[in-house]
Amino acid sequence: MCYAIPGKVVSVDNKTVTVDYFGELRKAHIIDTMVQPREYVYAQGGIVVGKISENEALPILETWKDHFFELKKIDAGLSILDKVSFPILKKVETLTKNEMLTLLAVEDKSELDSFYHTANKIRKERLDNACCVHGILEFSNYCSNNCLYCGINCSNKSIERYRMSEKEILDAVDYAVQLGFKALVLQSGEDLYYTDGMLVNIVKKIRKKHGILLFMSIGERSKDSYKKLYEAGAYGALLRFETGNSKLYTHLRPGKKLEDRLQLICELNNIGFVIATGFLIGLPNQTKKDIINDILLTKSLQPDMYSFGPLIPHPATPLTSVPKPTLDDILKVIALTRIVDPEAKILVTTALETLSFDAKEKGLMAGGNSLMINITPQKFKKSYDLYPGKVIDEPLEETVKKTVGLLHSLGRAPTDLGV
Ligand code: SAH
Repeated sequence: MCYAIPGKVVSVDNKTVTVDYFGELRKAHIIDTMVQPREYVYAQGGIVVGKISENEALPILETWKDHFFELKKIDAGLSILDKVSFPILKKVETLTKNEMLTLLAVEDKSELDSFYHTANKIRKERLDNACCVHGILEFSNYCSNNCLYCGINCSNKSIERYRMSEKEILDAVDYAVQLGFKALVLQSGEDLYYTDGMLVNIVKKIRKKHGILLFMSIGERSKDSYKKLYEAGAYGALLRFETGNSKLYTHLRPGKKLEDRLQLICELNNIGFVIATGFLIGLPNQTKKDIINDILLTKSLQPDMYSFGPLIPHPATPLTSVPKPTLDDILKVIALTRIVDPEAKILVTTALETLSFDAKEKGLMAGGNSLMINITPQKFKKSYDLYPGKVIDEPLEETVKKTVGLLHSLGRAPTDLGV
């Protein structure tokens, strides 16, 4: 669990530290930051990503002190569950596939409410109110793939292609860190213009300057390439398998094989990467059974974070006329995932926000406990056109302010973003 407020190291046991956050003890792994008891650290995704001096930590903790407990009270108040109207909702982690299908088929408003409330209560009981907020920097929209669902696939000649220079990437990262982000994702299409060496340099420069958890989301590269990036200091990887239905996968990702993608995810896990993975919901010919298999497949990959979201049909792709999933279609998957894997970090994705203005709030109240904010500079944002309907004109500071406000109103500790 990533409490990205400074925590005080209580003990160090080989490569594991125990960190105290106002009396709550959490564990984190040491990779490249040597720490001693009584030092203050930042931990993200279960990894110590940086140290902070006592002089700097104490004033931050002072501002957090009362706030920390106040937020927990708000969350507890919003998580009260009077009664569970649905018998199968009493079963956590032991649902059969048929029961999962029943839950995905719920339409009745009061049944849906109990379903979401139950998931939210499980989130509260198991993980309390911490909410990770990661920033995503889309540094290139060049892509050598031709995925049928994706607006930046190589066949789309109608978008302006861009590549951010090293300096542009470093500046955008500096700005995000200045705003309080402690975990960032560097994402691009599959773009071999950026050699391993170039990416390693960028990662090293970022990690030398900032105590943050860095995720790479650059698609399929060799295990060796990823290993170099890990050694350079990028300890996270975001790589969805998109769909666990291999027939559908091959159809939607011409020339690609599901087993290769899954194998890569396993290899990244073995290297030690913090893994975020998941799938798309609303693909043509995808059944409810496929979705349940996808939740279970994600779970079997032992991710640090579930990242699944709606397919938003892009007008310049062959899937343009596929109907968009509804907000409830996605909320049901969030809630079911929470029940199937109670201690999961479940991301409320940026794509979900295109379905409804209050999607972030609804997702967080249906079992979600992580958010992603787009930190791509304004001038590139509109060209990273994976799907239509992205918010592109809101200044980043404004988005951060709104998000922190939302999290406070829900009693969640937006601990990646400071107070
Ligand atoms: N090259 C990287 C990043 C791909 S884009 C990789 O291969 O992992 C990031 C994610 O956007 C994809 O994994 C896909 O799940 C999602 N995506 C692409 N097109 C989309 C669409 N039309 N609607 C919603 N999500 C989409």
